[in-house]
Parts: sequence; C-alpha cells; structure tokens
Amino acid sequence: MAHITLSHKAYKHNFNLISSYVGSNVEIAAVLKDNAYGHGLEQISAFARECGIQSVFVKNYSEALRVSEDFAHITALYGMPEGKFSPHIAFVVNQKEHIYALKKGTKVELKVNAGMNRNGVESKELEDFILAILKQGLELVGVFCHNGYGDEKDKTFYETQNTFASIKTHIKALSLKYGFKLPRFHSLSSSGAIALAGEGGISDDLVRIGIALYGYLDVAFANPISAQLQKVAALYADRVSTRYLKKGARIGYSGCTTLQDSSQISTYDIGYGDGFFRVSEDHKVYTAKGYQILPRSSMDCFSCLCSEPQICVFDDANVIARAFHTISYEVLTHLSPNLKRIIIK
Ligand SMILES: *Cc1c(COP(=O)(O)O)cnc(C)c1O
Repeated sequence: MAHITLSHKAYKHNFNLISSYVGSNVEIAAVLKDNAYGHGLEQISAFARECGIQSVFVKNYSEALRVSEDFAHITALYGMPEGKFSPHIAFVVNQKEHIYALKKGTKVELKVNAGMNRNGVESKELEDFILAILKQGLELVGVFCHNGYGDEKDKTFYETQNTFASIKTHIKALSLKYGFKLPRFHSLSSSGAIALAGEGGISDDLVRIGIALYGYLDVAFANPISAQLQKVAALYADRVSTRYLKKGARIGYSGCTTLQDSSQISTYDIGYGDGFFRVSEDHKVYTAKGYQILPRSSMDCFSCLCSEPQICVFDDANVIARAFHTISYEVLTHLSPNLKRIIIK
C-alpha cells in the first residue's frame, strides 16, 4: 500500500536546530494546522510533544479536539467551537461576532492586522475589542499578527514589526488601565523568525513555526538554517502491476504517452485521489530516483518505466512543487489523510 514515512529524527533535528538559532528566551510553538501540513496531526503531535513543545496552533475546533490531551496551550486559528472543549483551547478573535459567540471564561487570542491586510482587527480598534473581550468575561491569552513579508525580508517586513511593536505598547498600557493580565505576543512564522533571529532581534514571547519544522525554509535571504533542515515526510507507492509493452504502445487515458522503445512498465498505487497532483501532458514529473511519472496519471495510480516493487514518489516536496508551479506547502497539505503513515525512528 502507498504510504508516507515520517522521520522522527528529522523533526527532532529541525526542532533543535531552530531552537538553538532562535535562542532560549523565545518559545517555539508548532503550527499543526491542516493535518500538520498534510503529514498527520496525531503523528506530528507526538513528535512535537517529545520535543517538549507546549504551545500549538491548529486550524479549527475539530483539529483542536484531536490534540487536546497533548499540549498545555492549543489555539484554533479559525472558526468557533461547536460543542464542548477543554479550557486550555483558545480561539482567535478576528471580528466582534467572535467575541459574542464565546462563553465566559473562554481563552482567546486577538489577531491584529499589522500590514498584511488579510485578517485581524485594526490597531485603532484595539481598545474597543479589549473592552468587549473583558465585558464578555473572556480570558485574553494572546495578541498576535502575521508578518507575511518574511520570505523576502524587505522593507515592509520591518515596517510590520514596527507596527506590531506599537501594538504591544498599546496593549501594555491597556492592561494597566483595565487591570488584565498581559497576554503573550507573537508575530513571526518560520521565515520571519529565522530572519530576525539572525539579527538578534526577536522580542516576542513565542514564534509560530510551521514549514521549517517539517524541513523546508525556502527564503530569498541567506541564512544558516535552510540547508541544514531535514525533510520529515516522504511518499512511497507500491507496484500494482507490471507488463512488457512494445515500442509505439499507448498508455493510460487517451493513450497520452506513446512508448519510444519497447520496455517494462509498471503502475503504482498513487493518484490524484491520494492528494498527489494529477500529472498531465503539461507536466514533466520525476520520482525521487528519476523515473518519469508518465502522463496522464489516474485517480489511484500512475505509470513508470520501471519494475521496482516500491518507489519513492518524493522525499522533497519542492521537486514536485516546481513541476506544478506551486510551493512545498501546497504539495504537502494536499496529501490525503487516508494514506498510511509509518513512523521512522
Ligand atoms: C500557517 C501559519 C504560520 C506558520 O507559517 P510557516 O511559514 O509555515 O512557518 C504561522 N502563523 C499563522 C497565523 C499561520 O496561519
């Protein structure tokens, strides 16, 4: 059966590498949203817990429930609860309705727009939101933004950090004025954290590390981390059948591939139904060992000119990402949760 291997060693290596670079005064939180970037939420949670990670970010309520026993601090980035949940799960406030939808005593993190102009409340609305949160009896555990300019480390990256610095100052003043406990502050994902750590400049309480813990950091600036990260996941497919075909034989839907020479050809049990992108005549895609995945791939299998019983489809999502003009994140998050996960210790 097709499966994904998950390297425990690689995850731990990445965690140690990032921790030592970021420094001991900044907490490393793991971003586990979208089934842990397609790797498998339960499996990666176990890795994260073994690294001593205390705080995690998941996509929503249902993901939060799946890991609720595993971490002291869990934040659901999107949506509201739909039933019972443990008190250590926090929900993100992006708008007023979110405040009114939550029961007294619920933990919340307030998302602020510091320049990405995507989600979050505006800086000028801070006091208004804080008052509503206090009035509703919610517990404000975090105030954060998302600096979406970390990959390039350009001017706007630093402007966003400056905006967040004034947001912190404002929140500190409000906490004195209204007597609430100071929340934790965070603004950086993998790229921004590595960018600022290199300059000794992280002044947040924690950093939200997603992609780098899975072994990827493709940024436009030089840094000592990118090349040292190890990929956690690899995708393997098993042979379904092998046959010998003569030169000129056509293969698959619409006979899209025509054999240039007589050869052995096999199909393998991965297709777009497994979340692996569909290979058409517009793509040239190769497996880890360099076998071409012949167009067109099907829902549950693809063909290759080889007869190995099992092949590694990829051990570096960037190879696939380049072939499909996308990014490693998309290749990874598409991986079907139904594929078997095998932990490599
Ligand atoms: C996805 C996400 C992250 C992690 O980003 P990476 O680039 O994978 O490190 C951090 N913060 C928020 C709010 C996110 O949605």
